[in-house]
Amino acid sequence: MREYSHSQLEKFETCPLQYKFVYVDRLRRYEEGVEAFLGQRFHETMERLYRERAFRLVPLEELLDFYEKAWAKKWHAAVRIRKEGRTADEYRLIGRRCIEDYYRRYGPFDEGRILGLERTIRFSLDKEGRYGFKGVIDRLMKAPDGAFEIHDYKAGGTLPEQSKFDTDRQLAIYQVGVQELWPEAKDVRLIWHYVAFDMEMRSSRTPEELEALKDDTMRLIDRIESETEFRPNESALCDWCSYWDLCPLKKHLVKVEGLPENEWKNEPGVRIVDAYAERWRKKRVLEAEKEVVEKDLEKLREAAVAFAEKEGVRVIAGSDARLRVNGKEKIVSPGKGTAEREALEKELRELGVWDEVSTLDPYALERALAEGRWAGETLERVRSYVAAEKRWTVTLRENAKEDE
Ligand code: SF4
Repeated sequence: MREYSHSQLEKFETCPLQYKFVYVDRLRRYEEGVEAFLGQRFHETMERLYRERAFRLVPLEELLDFYEKAWAKKWHAAVRIRKEGRTADEYRLIGRRCIEDYYRRYGPFDEGRILGLERTIRFSLDKEGRYGFKGVIDRLMKAPDGAFEIHDYKAGGTLPEQSKFDTDRQLAIYQVGVQELWPEAKDVRLIWHYVAFDMEMRSSRTPEELEALKDDTMRLIDRIESETEFRPNESALCDWCSYWDLCPLKKHLVKVEGLPENEWKNEPGVRIVDAYAERWRKKRVLEAEKEVVEKDLEKLREAAVAFAEKEGVRVIAGSDARLRVNGKEKIVSPGKGTAEREALEKELRELGVWDEVSTLDPYALERALAEGRWAGETLERVRSYVAAEKRWTVTLRENAKEDE
């Protein structure tokens, strides 16, 4: 049975190409963002705290010592700090503060029965067992009122708004698994600990919402399995991607960054972009000038029409040129999307003359095909008239260096 995880689906939604590198090509990279490293150490510390809790309450100092030792022991050369000017020590101290806040907020940690720590659950989204799912629950609890609680620690530096928790897939899909594995779990609470903010966020799901979530997730899995293109999707998360050397959006940047200054300027790609940027800037100056000239011409056109009307002439003489001024009636029809336009189109159809004035809108046709609006015979018949043609766009991004 194929088996998916939340992070796998999330990766596909964030960037299909990165998904391909990780899950299809299985290219392993050992780089790790410092944020992920910190999150891991926090998780381990919590696991230590709650595992020991059945026997004793680990004092805060001992817990911090456990964290510090794990940080020092597991730190490796491939941990990346992306934020300029930040140091590993600053992140380590954030982790310490998160543990201290958490300890003060929840001590003595006896708010229910622990059912599982870092508990792996495996379940199926459908009755036939075709859509397998796997998840790891940070802490599964049974509260004093009998409700099951799925706890998740987040050490990230952004606190999402409540609506994100009410629509979050990860814990809700874990709820599906918990209820499948433990039918006693009728009442389930979803709880996130945003430890960098000392905040606890909660949400819950109705059975209908869980059914809809299962359907959406299975549809997404189908989409992943039929995917053939795996396009790159550039976003702020690229900063945490380890596949720049393979990504068509980034690999040339990686290549030229490694070149010495004198070679860099002569690299064929750099030469093309530099020449392109120079012409593009020149074009922008010319366009600005053109705009000014066009405004002047418009004013002079108005002056010429007024003059011709006043003097009753159609040709105005200049020193070495003449202006011919012609007036011609033009039909103006109501704009697209207006009620008048609709009424006019209806009228033309009723009069049986619609075909004489309507034309095919190629953009609307392209959009309909791209959005997959048609299927079956309709799609087949339309497709037999059109051909796919690769179109290239070249866009210059100014100050690209500062963007990165
Ligand atoms: S660098 Fe960005 S676009 Fe390229 S593979 Fe990584 S996440 Fe995707």
